[in-house]
Amino acid sequence: MKLDLGQDRWMPIPGTVSEAESKEVRCGVCGATMNYMPNQYGATTWAGSMAGVKRAYDLFICPNHDLGWHNHVQKLQELQRATPSSKLAGIYEGDANAILKENCK
Ligand SMILES: [Zn+2]
Repeated sequence: MKLDLGQDRWMPIPGTVSEAESKEVRCGVCGATMNYMPNQYGATTWAGSMAGVKRAYDLFICPNHDLGWHNHVQKLQELQRATPSSKLAGIYEGDANAILKENCK
């Protein structure tokens, strides 16, 4: 399973992803296999954090999520999704793919 374009973390309800599936979840930014940290507890959204709402969740997070090139690719993918122009989307995608090629070997 690969996350949607631009998504580098996922917090499903514990137990909803099987052991076998948990080893196959891939980052929607760079395609890396996600780190899996089951049975977490806390706020899962900014609004939830502000309101003090907490819940149990399993955490899938990309091992590259805090690297500069990963953030750059994520921003390019956000622009790719947001633009109504197919030409601009192609330019953003090309730039993102060049960075991925350089960093994901
Ligand atoms: Zn990633």
